[in-house]
Amino acid sequence: MSTHTEVSEISSENPNTCLANIESTQTSPLEKNAVQLNALQRLCYPILLISALLTIGSAFYFDLNFGLCNVVFLLWAIAYLAICERLIPYEKEWHPTLAEWGRDGLYLVITMSGGALSVAAIYAIASVISPMHSVIPLWLEIPLALLLTSLGSYVFHRAGHEFTWLWRLHGIHHTVSKINVSNNALNHVLDVFGRRFLAQLPMLILGISQPALFIVSIFNTAQGYFAHANVDVRLGKLNYLVGGPEQHRLHHSLDIREAGHYSVDVPIWDLLFKSYFWKNGRTPNAVGIKNVTSFPPANAIFSNFLHPFVKKRNYFSTKNSS
Ligand SMILES: [Zn+2]
Repeated sequence: MSTHTEVSEISSENPNTCLANIESTQTSPLEKNAVQLNALQRLCYPILLISALLTIGSAFYFDLNFGLCNVVFLLWAIAYLAICERLIPYEKEWHPTLAEWGRDGLYLVITMSGGALSVAAIYAIASVISPMHSVIPLWLEIPLALLLTSLGSYVFHRAGHEFTWLWRLHGIHHTVSKINVSNNALNHVLDVFGRRFLAQLPMLILGISQPALFIVSIFNTAQGYFAHANVDVRLGKLNYLVGGPEQHRLHHSLDIREAGHYSVDVPIWDLLFKSYFWKNGRTPNAVGIKNVTSFPPANAIFSNFLHPFVKKRNYFSTKNSS
């Protein structure tokens, strides 16, 4: 009865007023879109972590080759984050062009060989000195491996900013004036080799098992590409627990006062060694290096690889120019 009464009451109103009331309670397509984008901003990182867990789970369940799983996950992380960059960009002008995808793809192939060399060296040593099943339980090995990898990576990265010759290796990565998932691959092959080798060597000495090495390497791949992605994701206080794009784009800042912060996995070593830098909502005005002529252009791949071994010529290296 009451329903009928309400209907009759509504129908007795001015039809235009009624339509206006209905429209005011409906969500507009723009608002709907904003809600969806907001959801993606919140889900972008969890989805990446879940896919990392699925990769790890599948590798163990189906007894898959760890190296192959690493490569497949790397390609997935790049593709997934590239899509997220289009849907929730932090800076639209930072989207890579097709030519840049091509250039960075070449860098990726070359630096992957450096990474593969380092992994091959690590696994070759591991097969001799590292047991398949460590005496340390896996639940303890994983955080231990994570901390040690993070420390090795932190030391090598920081040294890359502190020592002139190492800056000639690492500075290549800082020459670009936009940060995105594509140019995360823009590195000197020896920079990748050195960082990975130093990151994993202590674990071999301690006898960390291959499964633990694999789990941590998947996490590090996810973190490395996520931190470099041009996505508008805000982690809030989680920025004290894990690395992310808010911290890492500040590392690329032209303003040296905010360009510390060397970790992309977990920021514990930055916090301990006082190089942590993140402030809620703080964004860099510009990224890159001040003296761009100190390095060959990013497109000159061969010159960039020779750069650390060539005497100063027309360009010169600087200490921590980023
Ligand atoms: Zn750096």
